[in-house]
Amino acid sequence: MSTTETASPSNFIRNIIDADLKSGKRQQVITRFPPEPNGYLHIGHAKSICLNFGLAAEYGGRCHLRFDDTNPIKEEDEYVKAIEKDLRWLGFDWGEHLYYASNYFEQLYQWAVQLINQGQAYVCGLNAEQMREYRGTLTEPGKDSPYRNRPVEENLDLFERMRAGDFPDGSHVLRAKIDMASPNLNLRDPVMYRIMRAHHHRTGDSWCIYPMYDFAHGQSDSIEGITHSICTLEFQDHRPLYDWFLDQLQIGHPKQIEFARLNLSYTVMSKRKLLELVKEERVEGWDDPRMPTLVGMRRRGFPPAAIRRFCERIGIGKSDSWIDMSVLEDCVREELNESAPRVMGVLRPLKVVIENYPEDQVEEFDALNHPLKPEMGTRKVPFCREIYIEQDDFMEDAPKKFFRLAPGREVRLRCAYFIRCEKVIKNELGQVIELRCSYDPETRGGSAADGRKVKGTIHWVSARHALPAQVRLYDRLFATANPAGDKDKDYREHLNPGSLELLSDCQLEPGLVEADSGSPYQFERLGYFCLDGKSSQPGRPVFNRTVTLRDSWAKKA
Ligand code: ATP
Ligand code: MG
Repeated sequence: MSTTETASPSNFIRNIIDADLKSGKRQQVITRFPPEPNGYLHIGHAKSICLNFGLAAEYGGRCHLRFDDTNPIKEEDEYVKAIEKDLRWLGFDWGEHLYYASNYFEQLYQWAVQLINQGQAYVCGLNAEQMREYRGTLTEPGKDSPYRNRPVEENLDLFERMRAGDFPDGSHVLRAKIDMASPNLNLRDPVMYRIMRAHHHRTGDSWCIYPMYDFAHGQSDSIEGITHSICTLEFQDHRPLYDWFLDQLQIGHPKQIEFARLNLSYTVMSKRKLLELVKEERVEGWDDPRMPTLVGMRRRGFPPAAIRRFCERIGIGKSDSWIDMSVLEDCVREELNESAPRVMGVLRPLKVVIENYPEDQVEEFDALNHPLKPEMGTRKVPFCREIYIEQDDFMEDAPKKFFRLAPGREVRLRCAYFIRCEKVIKNELGQVIELRCSYDPETRGGSAADGRKVKGTIHWVSARHALPAQVRLYDRLFATANPAGDKDKDYREHLNPGSLELLSDCQLEPGLVEADSGSPYQFERLGYFCLDGKSSQPGRPVFNRTVTLRDSWAKKA
């Protein structure tokens, strides 16, 4: 697996556009993002979105949002709404340029009639199996359908009756009359229309024939005056077909440019597989924070700027490549390191009683919200006789290099005092359940009046003031880099059993009661976290870990 990183923002698509503008072939740049509303957007779509909207913005043009809704069976309005929301969240705006391929159904029908009239389309009665047989293979030419030479009048009549609902589903199709011997299988008399009695999310039951994607896509671009129609590599072989339709119909052409789709390790990106994971309840839903979907990433706490940064960093190329998940995670870390305020939270609490600290005393310390950004201000953090520290910040038989708390040793509590461990209290199983410590009042704020040093600084939370919370530690959804590429095993067998760890007894700094689901935090020393708006209850917050502070997979791989 190789990681392709292009630091330079220039790419071959810009070169093509520059040449088109320079030669006067195009006067402006109009792109489009054409999702099919049959699932939620994922990080692969983000690559296409950033590219299309980014180029339009850069060249002072515009980018259309067009729903390619030609297949009523799998499409739903729920997805339309979700896609619009995700696009806005990602930071893009299509203004008034919202379109649907279904808006063009009547025009597409008229164009089909035109092709029939020109002797370039015919109604075919072969069934699906026969069609496959007649189609030939990559090495053998196909055979002409027995219906290929139907007279125009008969085709017109049959096609009209297809539309009128005179025939059962699947009994006829309309095909383009191109070339059954073409080396490009897409040109072997491809289907343009099929009969399908299905309710459409926008046109309802007004149609019982629907255009194929290939008969709709190029024409939709043409209708909207798209100048540069950017799509993924698999459409390269469809380009001659799009060109054929546009030429025969004598309507304008966009320039189609193909680029390599994003492949990201440790996840899957096929909408079919993502839907399976949702339906089989292997994840909580499309917005499960482990999903590669934009809704999932939003809930996980990925800032939209991190996704844009990622798309910029991976660049645009012509050949298929893989990007490692760590590239995306690094973008998230870089972004959050800048923007996330620091707080303290204890995930696995161990109680510490500071025996020489007055029972009723409470102090407040000023803590910096960001170590390098004084403009982000400070906050008050309360301190009292009982605090929580992280269980693994204490070790009973600590090696010399362990600079945290151990019997008889001293440690700094972040922005508070030095404490020394005086006594360890255990339960009947011999597990450490509490520490008895002393503090040195001469170390207020974290440095000793006598100049003595401690090596370790740990985070803590005042037990009396702490906000109890549940925390979900998310990790990669799959344990192997290319789960869908394994020929011997189903991709689901590669799911990472440790992708979600629930911690139900966490204690957080009280100020986090104000947290809202859009705001990221760095829990010092632990990682980046955000409130999970969906599963939090009043007084019982749930936080998601967005990403760890450092890449923990680098060692494993
Ligand atoms: P399918 O066609 O199987 O439903 P799709 O992922 O192609 O899935 P679309 O809704 O058609 O889904 O995609 C919308 C746009 O996003 C298309 O232009 C497509 O090329 C682009 N796109 C989809 N997946 C990726 C990806 N992994 N990398 C880059 N672009 C992608
Ligand atoms: Mg597609």
